Amino acid sequence: MLSGPRRAEVLAKTMVGQGKTVIQAEIDAAAELIDFFRFNAKYAVELENSQPLSVDVSTNSMVYRGLEGFVAAVSPFNFTAIGGNLAGAPALMGNVVLWKPSDTAVLSSYAVYRILLEAGLPPDVIQFVPADGPVFGDAVTSSEHFCGLNFTGSVPTFKRLWKQVSENLDRYRNFPRLAGECGGKNFHLVHSSADVSSVVNGTLRSAFEYGGQKCSACSRLYAPDSLWPQIKAKLLEEHGKIKVGDPAQDFGTFFSAVIDDKSFARIKKWIEHAKTSSNLTILAGGGCDDSVGYFIEPCIVESKDPKDPIMKEEIFGPVLTVYVYPEKRYKDILELIDTTTPYGLTGAVFAQEKSIIQEARNRLRNAAGNFYINDKSTGAVVAQQPFGGSRISGTNDKPGGPHYVLRWTSPQAIKETHVPLTDWRYAYMQ
Ligand code: NAD
Repeated sequence: MLSGPRRAEVLAKTMVGQGKTVIQAEIDAAAELIDFFRFNAKYAVELENSQPLSVDVSTNSMVYRGLEGFVAAVSPFNFTAIGGNLAGAPALMGNVVLWKPSDTAVLSSYAVYRILLEAGLPPDVIQFVPADGPVFGDAVTSSEHFCGLNFTGSVPTFKRLWKQVSENLDRYRNFPRLAGECGGKNFHLVHSSADVSSVVNGTLRSAFEYGGQKCSACSRLYAPDSLWPQIKAKLLEEHGKIKVGDPAQDFGTFFSAVIDDKSFARIKKWIEHAKTSSNLTILAGGGCDDSVGYFIEPCIVESKDPKDPIMKEEIFGPVLTVYVYPEKRYKDILELIDTTTPYGLTGAVFAQEKSIIQEARNRLRNAAGNFYINDKSTGAVVAQQPFGGSRISGTNDKPGGPHYVLRWTSPQAIKETHVPLTDWRYAYMQ
């Protein structure tokens, strides 16, 4: 239904509700959501086929039971597909789900919910509960039947929910499963052997598609001083071609308004910080205008201080910060990237030299749950690059991968014996 008759509807609702362009709606509400549903079904069947050894004397099997209780699915505004997966995967594995969509993604989420019902999902397996976040959080975590949280969103919200769960631990009949995919402060590391065109195109795409409102968006670029003049010239030239506006009016729009007034105010504050800080220089963009919508121009900042808060904290808007490093200090930059922020979601290295790539892979092993070589930090595809980060970026359960469905089942092992026990004594005692 999603790939055929209802495709246009979910795309349109994602465009109107979440401010996406046609292509951004397509890769989310159609491509990714369809992939989630199809691949989760395939992975569930593979799991079902994954059975323990049976021997002459006994037949052994695993029953992949749903959890005993309900799972709360709490979804973010920025991906229609994520909401469908947060609710859909536990339901597929036999759970009852209370799905609370984001306040700013209710339109498309409700369309997905309706489609699931029309496709034959029995009523009440997934219960759609558009509600105030904290009220919903308090209600679900204080129920004795709460047995899992499937969350995607910001770190403060996930931490709050986790604390509420631990405070209520004595009430529950099961130890709840907590899965949470959160934010990032994603990096592009450029080595002096890199291809400048890949760096510039990859960085602009990653930093500014959907107005930087992707958890995987590149927000810190580390460029060597030897290549910086070339990168900078091209970055600014291409930046001038980015169109911001209403994608329903102009299909050439690269991105639209940011999601709401709160987001607008937060991003604007970061741009003010860039304007007033002596360490920071705005190289391009950064204009903010909320007269007809929450529009923010793509902003490129240069930082002299690699530890400025703008290099550490998630902004979730169209702001990219560049730190230019002395080429001969390349090895120190690996250490700097690894230790600058508490996040560990996505990152990329751009280099042609194989040994440099290998070194970056090793040194940045824990700095990104999704690591890219000569490619931008966004654009993970279900079943190709299972997605998720570690450190405070989340529990890294890799939605879109084969192990994800295992999170939403409580397996039961059953042994059926074919040789009855005829004596309580061990053989040597006879
Ligand atoms: P958010 O944390 O503001 O909200 C997420 C959800 O939690 C919403 O449904 C919201 O209503 C709900 N909520 C808020 N307070 C709550 C509370 N006290 N109790 C229960 N629920 C509550 O996040 P957002 O702005 O919707 O999404 C953006 C964030 O999500 C960014 O940090 C982004 O990086 C992250 N994100 C991560 C991934 C990933 O896969 N790692 C994907 C998409 C988005």
